[in-house]
Amino acid sequence: MNTLKKNIKNFSLPELKMLVRELGEPEFRAAQLHRWLYSEHTDDFMKMSNIGRTLREKLAERFSLPSCSIVQVSEEENDTPSAERTTKFLVRLHDSEAVETVLIPATGRQTVCVSTQVGCPLHCRFCATGYMGFTRNLSAAEIAEQVYAVQGFLDTRHPGDRLTNIVYMGMGEPLLNLDNVIESVHLLSHQGYRVAFSQKRITISTVGLTGGIERLATSDLNTRLAISLHSALQHKRLQLIPSARENPLEDLARSIRRFTDAKESPVTLVYMLLEDFNDSRDDALAFARFAGGLLCKINLIDYNAIVNIKFESTGTRRRDAFIQTLLDKGLQVTVRRSHGSSINAACGQLAIQNRPSQETTL
Ligand code: SF4
Repeated sequence: MNTLKKNIKNFSLPELKMLVRELGEPEFRAAQLHRWLYSEHTDDFMKMSNIGRTLREKLAERFSLPSCSIVQVSEEENDTPSAERTTKFLVRLHDSEAVETVLIPATGRQTVCVSTQVGCPLHCRFCATGYMGFTRNLSAAEIAEQVYAVQGFLDTRHPGDRLTNIVYMGMGEPLLNLDNVIESVHLLSHQGYRVAFSQKRITISTVGLTGGIERLATSDLNTRLAISLHSALQHKRLQLIPSARENPLEDLARSIRRFTDAKESPVTLVYMLLEDFNDSRDDALAFARFAGGLLCKINLIDYNAIVNIKFESTGTRRRDAFIQTLLDKGLQVTVRRSHGSSINAACGQLAIQNRPSQETTL
């Protein structure tokens, strides 16, 4: 890639309009260009057949057109048919950095989990990405292109299968890259484009950054919001999620209320059960008190063990008792099975393995 050329995919639609005007072209050319980039996924300016040759040549002279590509595919090993297995992708970005994207099939659904940052600065104790450190934010195009790449994989491997849902739950904290996350949602929900989701089928997940939740509440997005809670006791939550210090539970509850009031839509509280850490009756009662005051759904999830990190997934007996305590308090609980333990599906693990030049002490 010629590094002197600017990346055209760093331009939003309003910026493309300014650009084509500067190049002496009518504004509607920007919409045509945008469609070639984000609906047709064209990799060559000269293939943009409804744009005049002179403009195509000017664009090719001044701008680069990089795209992300899948460089490694790891499929879960089990007895289910291939189309039902969790599949993890290593996606290479234009500067040779890599992120992970995961395809999670379930009955009637094909969910893709996308990354928003290379690494993450938040260092959550249970998360492999948190041990990588932070390299950079992904652009809106890089976030959207993970979805295009996985849909392309499905088109080849399982023709006719379509992605149905997107979760922003891969590497990185989406609310630390909120401008690009918002722009990527606009790209992925652009009606009339080949890949166009209802925003109700897109979930943004956070470890509970209150400022970002409030920005989302006042944004024009209509996406779902999931909060990784993992403990409703501040001292325990702090041990898992260092950023809980600046975002204590009281503030978090207030921000969640602002979001649910503004969007008239429940949030999902995600709780990962860790053996002998957050799975006692007292933990369940604290969780019930926190959730009881909010418009929310509850997802209990298994922990995907990470080498050298001293947490274990809760056993069946303690998990059932925890669930029963929540049910007794009148809460509705969904239990999500663990996906992809055989392919290192805990976020960040595949990318860490593919960074041979960096040592990672877990
Ligand atoms: S859980 Fe999310 S926010 Fe925490 S370190 Fe991992 S990627 Fe970052």
